[in-house]
Amino acid sequence: MRTHTCGELRPEHAGARVALAGWVDRVRDHGNLVFVDLRDRYGRTQIVFHNDDEALLASARALKSETVLRVEGEVGLRSPQNANPKIPTGGIEVVARVALVLNPSRPLPFEITDDVDPATEVRLRYRYLDLRREKVRNRIALRHRIVAAMRKYLWSQDFLEIETPYLTRSTPEGARDYLVPSRISRGSFYALPQSPQILKQILMVSGMDRYFQIVRCFRDEDLRADRQPEFTQLDLEMSFVDQEGVLRLVEGLVRSLMKEVLEIEVEVPFRRLPYREAMERYGCDKPDLRYGLELIDLGEIASRSEFRVFREVLAKGGVVKGIRVPGGGKRSRKQVEELEAYAKEFGAGGLAWLKVEGGELKGSVAKFFAGPAGEDLKRAAGAGEGDLLLVVADQRKIAFAALDKLRQRLAGEEGLARSGRFEFAWVVDFPLFERSEEEMRWVSCHHPFTSARPEDLDRIHSDPGSVRARAYDLVLNGYELGGGSVRIHRRADQEEVFRGLGLSEETMREQFGFFLDCLDYGAPPHAGIALGVDRVAMLLAGVDNIREVIAFPKTARASCLLTGAPAGVEARLLSDLGIRILPETEARPAP
Ligand code: ASP
Repeated sequence: MRTHTCGELRPEHAGARVALAGWVDRVRDHGNLVFVDLRDRYGRTQIVFHNDDEALLASARALKSETVLRVEGEVGLRSPQNANPKIPTGGIEVVARVALVLNPSRPLPFEITDDVDPATEVRLRYRYLDLRREKVRNRIALRHRIVAAMRKYLWSQDFLEIETPYLTRSTPEGARDYLVPSRISRGSFYALPQSPQILKQILMVSGMDRYFQIVRCFRDEDLRADRQPEFTQLDLEMSFVDQEGVLRLVEGLVRSLMKEVLEIEVEVPFRRLPYREAMERYGCDKPDLRYGLELIDLGEIASRSEFRVFREVLAKGGVVKGIRVPGGGKRSRKQVEELEAYAKEFGAGGLAWLKVEGGELKGSVAKFFAGPAGEDLKRAAGAGEGDLLLVVADQRKIAFAALDKLRQRLAGEEGLARSGRFEFAWVVDFPLFERSEEEMRWVSCHHPFTSARPEDLDRIHSDPGSVRARAYDLVLNGYELGGGSVRIHRRADQEEVFRGLGLSEETMREQFGFFLDCLDYGAPPHAGIALGVDRVAMLLAGVDNIREVIAFPKTARASCLLTGAPAGVEARLLSDLGIRILPETEARPAP
């Protein structure tokens, strides 16, 4: 049907007879000349219709946007004043001799252009049209290149690509499962995997040594901008390695990926931040390291200050922490109050602030820091002339959360979070357990197959909260790209952790018996990680929503506006499964 694509012709093709096929991007009618831009995945080519064939000219004039057209003609050079240096085919045009409409298009719900974004609902409903837009298509192509680079690297490192089933048993990754009812075993359900965790570990017991899979995972959670009910992981597992082995492998992978896809050299090894340090310095476990604005501990100074509020917070086990904004003193009172309102959105009781003006401290709590106390404070915070100091005094969790958000907002406002910069880091030494206040028990921070640092093991019962895991997260620019751990490979240790998590012997046997048995047959030491492919693609594409790098994403309500999924099914199908839908009044409200 075509001799070339719409992105292929160059001046050296001048004089050649060619055939192109694509979509009518734009029609410009100059009376005795009509220009049509023909577009496909590869680019755009200008087609010109002359008045030496009136019928052909008339048919070109009548072309509507997005008509599928095949054109035959000769490649002609454009004169220098008519050339378009902005596109690769801008030096030529095709002089049409024959044109055939292969398929017309209805009037469009929106114009196919990169300049204006239609409303999200419209984009998702007509995703096939949205994907015709160059920038949208380019992101999908970028994702392809990322996945290709991942495969290439892992193949070169002796990894076997192995598929694991989607119809499987629940894996405890902490989220709610998507369930699939079984027709053959009525009343039983498969769970769509939240990850192939147990199966990839079993592959290590099988001696596969190095496994990877680019795999869909499913978690029935409340959605946010960087979450989807189904998402893709680069999942991998390695035998006979420790934590360092996995980190090194992933560093090599990221390095070659960044080089291949973006032509950026990243330095390895990446910075390693213990979890506690990340929390103290940035208030979160996935810090954006493109900028400073680190949290400063002001507890010691606050404890000696006249300010009762600070002292009371400290007495109750809370913290007093601040952020110094260099040159932030120029912010107006109103702007600072906006920051306070923002901090309060994340639970902070208030936001104290101080400015250094003419060597003096001014601001909401300045009167408590007169004289030497003020000098101490300035020194501790490193605050100089013109700086702004923002302080939160609260319970640890709240203060960290509020300051983390504040830090990100300030970086945005000060233009510090530069796009095109990639600051990778490892956060290591996560706690093995965290306290779930809701469930009043200890739960795994990562998942229950994660091993503890050997030197912390004796505290597993006496002080579970202090046990550090051999778990690690890869972070980039304020996002967690993925995480993994060194696994438990001995049955007795695995049972011990299950018990620590409050599993009864019976539940253990019933849910994990097959896995515990497997550990008994010579399980090698092993470790692994999973990286979120959607997030990696989102960050490399420089967008802030993972929907932009997924061909057919779902909305925040987990529905697909293109196909209408999820949808009701025929009663017959439900009765085959032995399922009856409860009337609204009897159903438990959606959590
Ligand atoms: N299965 C884990 C996850 O999905 C990753 C891992 O531990 O390898 O987060």
